[in-house]
This record gives sequence, C-alpha cells and structure tokens, in this order.
Amino acid sequence: MKRLFLAAATAAVLLLPACVQQQMQQIAYNSKVVVLDIGHYYEPTRGGQGARTPDARYGVIEETDFWYRYAGEVKKTVEAAGYTCRICNRGDVPTNRKLAAAAEKAGVHHVKSPEPTAIYRSTHHPKRVAVGMLSTNYALDQQPGAVVFLHHNSNSEKWRVYNKGAFYCNKVGVRLAQTMAQVMNRDIIDTPDGGMPNHGVPCGVVLRDNGRLGGGDWLNACNESYVPAVITEVAFLSNPEHAKYLSKHQNAVKFAQAIGRGIVEFLNQR
Ligand SMILES: [Zn+2]
Repeated sequence: MKRLFLAAATAAVLLLPACVQQQMQQIAYNSKVVVLDIGHYYEPTRGGQGARTPDARYGVIEETDFWYRYAGEVKKTVEAAGYTCRICNRGDVPTNRKLAAAAEKAGVHHVKSPEPTAIYRSTHHPKRVAVGMLSTNYALDQQPGAVVFLHHNSNSEKWRVYNKGAFYCNKVGVRLAQTMAQVMNRDIIDTPDGGMPNHGVPCGVVLRDNGRLGGGDWLNACNESYVPAVITEVAFLSNPEHAKYLSKHQNAVKFAQAIGRGIVEFLNQR
C-alpha cells in the first residue's frame, strides 16, 4: 500500500510540471495579445536614454524618442489584423509634451520602475534578473502570444556605414524573428522604391539565450513562459544611410508598419 502511494505520489510530481508546461504553452499559443516594449526610458532632464545619431548631419534620432512616436504605428498594424496590442515602457510619462501626447495616443502603459537603470527580478521566473525586467513582468502578466522589444542599434560614436542588423530572439521565438526578418527584407531593406539602403545585406536572426548579453534575460523569462520574444535591432543610428532614411516621417511609419506586419504574419501562420 505504501509502495503504491509512493508510486502515485511520484507520478503526480512527474505529471504536474508537464501539465503546467502544456497549459502555459497553450495559453501562449492561443493568445491574441501582443505586447510591445519601448526599450529605453525618458529621463526628465536628459531625455531619451537609448542610442542616438552621432550629430545632426544626417538627421537627429534617439531610440526612445523614435519609438514613442512610432510604436503606435506598429500597434495599429497589429490591431487592424484582429489582435490586441499593448505598449509599455519601463519609465514614467515623458516630460516632453509631444512625446507625452504620442504616448497617450498610443495608450502606452508606464511601468514606472522606481529606478529605471536598476536590476530587477522576474516575478514569473525569479532566477531571471535584468535592467528593464519590470517591462517584461508587465508583458508576461498580459499572457501574450508575442512580445517585441522595440530598439534601434548603434555601433559607433562616429558615422559609419554598418549593415548587419538583426532580430534577436529567444528559442521559442525563432520563427517570429524569421518572419519579421523576411518581411523587413521583402518590404524595407534595399527595396527599389526607396527602401532603407543596406548594400544587399539582409537583416538576420540571432538566437540570444545568454542572460549576460543585452536583453538576454528578458528573452529568457519569456522563453520560460513559452512566449516568442524578439528584440528589434535592424537599423543602426550611427549608419548615415539608415539615419537619413528613418528621419523622414513617411519612412519611419513604413518601417514601424513592417515590424507590425512581421508580427501579424507570424501570428497568422501559427
Ligand atoms: Zn536599444
């Protein structure tokens, strides 16, 4: 009898995680919610804290500022396809009035991290820690089908043509990243109708499962909830050709819409 009980207890212990795992997978798979995170925050006196163009020669762009202005275009594209889209930011409402208005229009949820540069623990997967984790906590609270961290890249203090942009993703997000890259390469990169010049180099996909690298544990925490997640690092603000392209309003809208279409095409093909 005791042995039988032990066998049953062991089975229960073994079955429970598999069951919970399956349930979590189903929630993510069936979810129609997309969460976008405006990757950096707005500091009241110093402004946006993301990458920026080296000087004003080819346009003035700062990552945080850019995504406050254009995350709403990604959202519109996602919602037009029948999904729900929520945008968050780790900081507080920008003190810049135009950005605050853009945030309100796009319905940005401000997580208001007490200290936006401090390291926080994932409430869903406590061994995961990172700066910006409070955004990931908010994202996973929404039980999403995809999470996209909106960024641009920069790899030089000076202007330099550099073309190896990529979508960084978690393990369960490889197909999301591949689809987003396909759409970006098809609709934006080097397109003959005046797309973003990139000298024939397509944007790639990089699996990031190392928590020590930028954003690694945002992706890992999402992975442990079976949620496909991607960090967009397609454009380089230190690349004069990318800066020139993205500083035109119409191009920025097109770029944001292509991010949205990539998400939609992935969700539609699940
Ligand atoms: Zn960034």
